[in-house]
Amino acid sequence: MNITAKLYLAAGKEHSLKRFHPWVFSGAIRKMEGEPVEGDVVEVYSKQREFLGMGHYAPGSIAVRIFSFEQVEPNYDFWKSKVQKAYDYRLQVGLIGNTHTDVYRLLYAEGDGVPGLIVDVYKDTAVLQAHSLGMHNARHQVAKALQEVYGGALKAIYDKSAESLPQKAAAEAKNGYLFGESSAGTVVTENENQFFVDWESGQKTGFFIDQRENRELLAKYVKDKSVLNTFCYTGGFSVYSLNAGAKEVHSVDSSKKAIELTERNAALSQAPDRHEAFAIDTFEFLRGKEDRYDVIILDPPAFAKSQNVRHNALMGYKRLNAEAMRKIKPGGILFTFSCSQVVDKYLFNNTVMAAAIEAGRNIKIMHHLSQPADHPISIFHPEGEYLKGLVLFVE
Ligand code: SAH
Repeated sequence: MNITAKLYLAAGKEHSLKRFHPWVFSGAIRKMEGEPVEGDVVEVYSKQREFLGMGHYAPGSIAVRIFSFEQVEPNYDFWKSKVQKAYDYRLQVGLIGNTHTDVYRLLYAEGDGVPGLIVDVYKDTAVLQAHSLGMHNARHQVAKALQEVYGGALKAIYDKSAESLPQKAAAEAKNGYLFGESSAGTVVTENENQFFVDWESGQKTGFFIDQRENRELLAKYVKDKSVLNTFCYTGGFSVYSLNAGAKEVHSVDSSKKAIELTERNAALSQAPDRHEAFAIDTFEFLRGKEDRYDVIILDPPAFAKSQNVRHNALMGYKRLNAEAMRKIKPGGILFTFSCSQVVDKYLFNNTVMAAAIEAGRNIKIMHHLSQPADHPISIFHPEGEYLKGLVLFVE
């Protein structure tokens, strides 16, 4: 990939890059040498012509996503070294070669030095989602690197970028296999719980891998309990509850397809007869369910995708949490989450506190939850942190 342009920043705009924050905002650019188009590799310099980094260009608010703070040739060897580094890191955190878990995120965008790229591994299939055209252009090199780093352990690599790329690029992209072929789905194991994952037609890459450790924590609290899992999608929290000896588990999702997937997964559990699933809106389901459940899980989709709708999102979180707090049995445990990146953990805590005031219940915080180590957050890029949760004891 040739370098098509050199971008010079306005005076003083180099500081964040020097601290390894990988985004260049369009407003920081003073001058461009060359005429880069979306997806091009560009070099970024300070006003004093000092090299700062190189990355993929895109028109829009984030003009460049830096993938290297050193001058490199972004060729196959370069991408392979990124994949190798990410692989070694997952090996170190115990996710590769693990006999209890064969589903994890291998590449998490900025957290792994590959802004705009996600790769999730489902047993022997890797699913790639590019969020920038630049990374999508590098997909064949990344796919080849994955094959080499895994040394034959991968049977297929699926590109699912048509729904993650920015609009214009998405129109030209087509989902499909970059390598091998698979039967559109497989049964994976997460902490010894089994799930069928369909990456071709499921949401995102097919499964919410980021809740692995939070599901494991839930399992400690559900024995002989009545559990309600709202926004269940493929039933992650439900299956853990069934396998951990819950008395009954109710799963709720407004999507019929999600409920079908949850039922399929519950059937793989040790106690499918203790499970019931409902394709209905959560608020509607909660109506009239006073003192019915010992444990409630709230894991809604991102209510806010941008800063300008954050206020409405906060109102949404408050209403949902207050409702669950009012309904849960005294002495019940509430697992509540937000995956909106623009709502940080402090704002989320405050919103949940506001809900508790509204519900008029006395509440203790038992645990603060986040995303697991295979969704690493660069300390210089706090925007990479998106999942937060609280476990609450409701008196
Ligand atoms: N907890 C899940 C992930 C949740 S994703 C897991 O562990 O895998 C969010 C889910 O919320 C989606 O499946 C979506 O269909 C569902 N959803 C969105 N709005 C809803 C609503 N108002 N009521 C119920 N489900 C809803």
